[in-house]
Amino acid sequence: MTDTLNIEVTETKHSRIGEVNPENMPFGKYFSDHMFIADYRDGEWTDLRIVPYGSLSMSPAISALHYGQSIFEGMKAHKSGRGEVLLFRPLENFRRFNSSAERMCMPAVPEKIFMDALIQLVRLDSKWVFPNDGCSLYIRPVMFATDEFIGVRESSTYRLIIFTCPVGFYYKEPVKVLIETKYARAFEGGIGFTKAAANYGISLYPTRLAREKGYHQIIWTDAKEHKYIEESGVMNVMFVINNTLITPSLAGKTILPGKTRDTIIAIAKDWNMKVEERKISVSEIMEALQQQKLQEAFGAGTAATVAPIAVIGYNGKDYILPPATENSFSQRVAKHLTRVRKGEEADIHNWVFKV
Ligand SMILES: *Cc1c(COP(=O)(O)O)cnc(C)c1O
Repeated sequence: MTDTLNIEVTETKHSRIGEVNPENMPFGKYFSDHMFIADYRDGEWTDLRIVPYGSLSMSPAISALHYGQSIFEGMKAHKSGRGEVLLFRPLENFRRFNSSAERMCMPAVPEKIFMDALIQLVRLDSKWVFPNDGCSLYIRPVMFATDEFIGVRESSTYRLIIFTCPVGFYYKEPVKVLIETKYARAFEGGIGFTKAAANYGISLYPTRLAREKGYHQIIWTDAKEHKYIEESGVMNVMFVINNTLITPSLAGKTILPGKTRDTIIAIAKDWNMKVEERKISVSEIMEALQQQKLQEAFGAGTAATVAPIAVIGYNGKDYILPPATENSFSQRVAKHLTRVRKGEEADIHNWVFKV
């Protein structure tokens, strides 16, 4: 990018990088030195700045806290073997952020602001992108309503913040999931396709109930009939049946259009695997399981990349899946994707973005 925006930078005098050990960085617990902030008022984004990461001082009346105009994004930066910092399809996150914003009646962020902020912030904190195996820098843009006003209406002011977390290996124990048939996460006409804060708040209680029964996560089903599979936690779900990759379609707009989902579909097609994006009923999965035709089931998302499913609970019964091996599609695609993100594979789709 040539003519960059004027972002005022205040560098920290006390880097905290010595406080983290790249061999032990639980997800979301450590924050790097700086954050980007911009404020929206009178119809435009102003006061673009990068400042030391730290607390905010806010009124308890800001409308995000009461009425939920709050959205976020999540992506990762990786360090290549040559020491370059690489983002993966960042424009997809930018577009999805604005799609969430539109649905929540929040202002769009211009591409130049989003991308310049991202690039300058990641450059400034590039030493937080650890090259160690399994490490990356998780990037979290968030926007929330800041009108100091009690009453349900769209806010006229907003704050955009981008901050980052160094993260290590995501715990990859194969997961035990419960097909949820009572509670719902999203419904047609709702906000399931957005990364709005409300989508996560609504999921906590049913997820707690599932945890109490010994499951890690829920597989959500459609809100109307609880007949069709939607997604799982903060991951899209994918199945392999008869060597075909099958995943719920995005048509009903109840499912988050995951970048990892889209990327895995593209790689599967590159590998000449048959791919189907369509409605998948719970009974289809149960039948495939019982006839031992369900070869694989896994979650796909930025945080974990791929999370193999070991057990599916349904109607009080647990069904065991074949264990993932090195030859499983999920394992091969996860490995390939990690190599693409680190610049170790030919980038045939132009997915990698050098910072
Ligand atoms: C973020 C998210 C995903 C995965 O999206 P990616 O772009 O692959 O990270 C899937 N489902 C939900 C509900 C999410 O919030």
